[in-house]
Amino acid sequence: MLEKVLKKIAHLKRSTWLPKVEEGDGGLSDSKFAGKPWLNNDEEWPKCPICENPMQFFLQLNLEKLPKETRDQFGKGILQMFYCMNCEPDCCEVLANAWEPFAKSELIRVIEPKEPAEGIEVPKFEHPFPSKRIVGWEEKDDYPHYYDLHNMGVKLEAEEIALLEAAHYPLEGEKLAGYPYWVQSPEYPNCPICKKRMEFVFQIDSEKNLPHMWGDVGVGHITQCPEHKTQLAFGWACH
Ligand SMILES: [Zn+2]
Ligand SMILES: [Zn+2]
Repeated sequence: MLEKVLKKIAHLKRSTWLPKVEEGDGGLSDSKFAGKPWLNNDEEWPKCPICENPMQFFLQLNLEKLPKETRDQFGKGILQMFYCMNCEPDCCEVLANAWEPFAKSELIRVIEPKEPAEGIEVPKFEHPFPSKRIVGWEEKDDYPHYYDLHNMGVKLEAEEIALLEAAHYPLEGEKLAGYPYWVQSPEYPNCPICKKRMEFVFQIDSEKNLPHMWGDVGVGHITQCPEHKTQLAFGWACH
C-alpha cells in the first residue's frame, strides 16, 4: 500500500543526507555540531544584540565538503548557526520571538574563510553543548510533508497520508536537503532581497545531536534563498 502512494509521488522524491557524527571537535573548518566555529581573525565570537552575551554555537556546515550532489545547491563558504540561549533577566528567545525566521537573537550566516582567528575559546555557557564533528553523510529517500504536497496540488486520501506518516516521510531528525518535517504548518520565509520563497537546507530536531529542546519537542529548519545564497533563516515550531 505504501508503495502505491510512493509511486504516486515518485516525481517528488528527493535525497536527504543524515549526518554521521563522532564525539569531539574537529578542525575549525569542519562540519560539526557545537565546538569551535570558524571565526576570521578580524572578528570575535558573535554576540547577541539583545543581551550582548556570546550566542551559543549550534551548527557549522562546510558547504564545499557536503555530499557532492548538494554542493552547487547551497553555494560556497561555511554555513554557521548561532542562537542566544541566555535567559537572564529575560529569555532573548522570547523577547525576539526566535521561533520566527530573522529573529535578532540568532545569527545564521555563510562565512567566507580567510585567516582563522587564533586561540578561539568556547565561552562558558550555562548549558554547554558537547561538540560532535560530522564525519560523513548517509543518503536516504525523502518525500514531502502532506502540507507541502497539498500546496503542490497533490491530492492524497486520508489513508494515504496516514501511510506516509507511518513510514516517517519526510524524515525527522537531523538532515541535510530533502524535505522539512513540519510540526505545524509550512514556514518557508521569503528572501529579504528578492522576496522569493527560501528553500530548505538543514533540519535541527530536539535532543538529537544537540542537547537542546525546541519548546515542546519542536523541530527547526535552516532555509536559504536559492538565488541569494548568503540569505539564510532559521525558524522552529513545536506541538
Ligand atoms: Zn541574548
Ligand atoms: Zn533572494
